[in-house]
Amino acid sequence: MDSIAYNYAIIGAGCAGIHLALAMMDDPAFKDMQILIIEKEHKEINDRTWCFWEIGAGKWDHLVYHSWSKGKFNAPGKTKQLEMHPYRYKMLRSIDFYRNGKTRIKAAPNFQWINDSVENILESEYGSQLIGNSGQYQADHIFDSRIHPDFYTKKDSYTRLLQHFKGWVVETEEDFFDPEEFVIMDFRKKWNNSTSFNYVLPTSKKRALVEFTLFTPDLIPEDHYDQILKQYLEDIVGLKKFSIAEVEQGIIPMSTFPFHQQHQKHLTKIGTAGSWVRPSSGYSFKNAEKYSQQIIRNLKKQKHPSTGIAKNRFRKYDILLLDILKNKNELGEELFTSMFGKNSAKQIFKFLDEETSIIEDLKIISTFRSKPFLQALMNQFK
Ligand SMILES: Cc1cc2nc3c(=O)[nH]c(=O)nc-3n(C[C@H](O)[C@H](O)[C@H](O)COP(=O)(O)OP(=O)(O)OC[C@H]3O[C@@H](n4cnc5c(N)ncnc54)[C@H](O)[C@@H]3O)c2cc1C
Repeated sequence: MDSIAYNYAIIGAGCAGIHLALAMMDDPAFKDMQILIIEKEHKEINDRTWCFWEIGAGKWDHLVYHSWSKGKFNAPGKTKQLEMHPYRYKMLRSIDFYRNGKTRIKAAPNFQWINDSVENILESEYGSQLIGNSGQYQADHIFDSRIHPDFYTKKDSYTRLLQHFKGWVVETEEDFFDPEEFVIMDFRKKWNNSTSFNYVLPTSKKRALVEFTLFTPDLIPEDHYDQILKQYLEDIVGLKKFSIAEVEQGIIPMSTFPFHQQHQKHLTKIGTAGSWVRPSSGYSFKNAEKYSQQIIRNLKKQKHPSTGIAKNRFRKYDILLLDILKNKNELGEELFTSMFGKNSAKQIFKFLDEETSIIEDLKIISTFRSKPFLQALMNQFK
């Protein structure tokens, strides 16, 4: 048994775990605390690319791989240039984030990084005990990024959609892309009649990450992602000759499942497992930065760390959108086209960051005028 009793243990050194660990490290209030990070993987693989928007300089600029000041939205017969100023859209490779986090955590005297898989947690009145494959660890409070198994197995009435995607980093011999401009959504090539689109993130004139994404209840056959990517590149983008340098694939839950109900007195769920992913968009990188700061504020005020996190009116809007996408998946294109067509990107980013006023929310919501949307809205108030 590990002999140290830690003040805090963080399970998982992924997006949320590293954000939280570094936020604690950067705050002098935690300098005398003993903090354990326990992670089952070595985190040496670039397993995802994070994109997010922010105004001006940001905390992760030293790790940012590429950023854009211009963006575009495409649907059949419609192209909208995004008015993004003062935002920039930024891309960060997960491997750079993991390496930076791991190096800093390993160098900090009051932090310990242990490679182990947590199998069980025993809660008592005074703290929690973690049972790992290779050891046992004691902590006053645990931050846990493991998703509760009920999310995958339990039959209940919560909506469970999947944001699933496959992307290729394509390379060309001749200059082809504009590295100053990205495409946030392009509905000109879809899978059947589903809510599905491509996006294009050029990082140089000869290189871009092109990803095909669906917001649907189920996955599709593996070769269909490749077929659509190829058709999109050749027929829509007009790129006939390219090589594939890297492949990225992933699934993000888009769900009304109440992850936050899994918090306990000595345990706070974080990341996807703590509802930090915005259910309607799948974005969570910036939430992880914001909510880590909220946890720090709560700890300093002796409040439960989860206080005030991911429980607000924006979740109601998310439920609404998921309800429509579950029952009328074909409406996604119309909804997103209305949203991008009738609002500035600046306003949409502010809304997705949960920083708009109720009046601003209503203005954005009023741009969705389709009958099924209004029906779903009515259902929410029944
Ligand atoms: C391919 C992909 C691309 C994405 N792109 C974006 C994007 O562009 N922008 C955005 O905002 N969001 C994006 N997301 C969504 C979201 O930001 C990520 O899923 C994010 O990594 C979630 O953070 P997390 O900490 O909850 O989970 P993770 O980052 O997956 O971290 C969980 C960690 O816990 C560890 N772990 C699990 N079980 C145990 C155990 N029993 N014991 C010890 N350790 C354990 C895992 O090994 C892992 O390191 C993307 C997701 C994927 C999958």
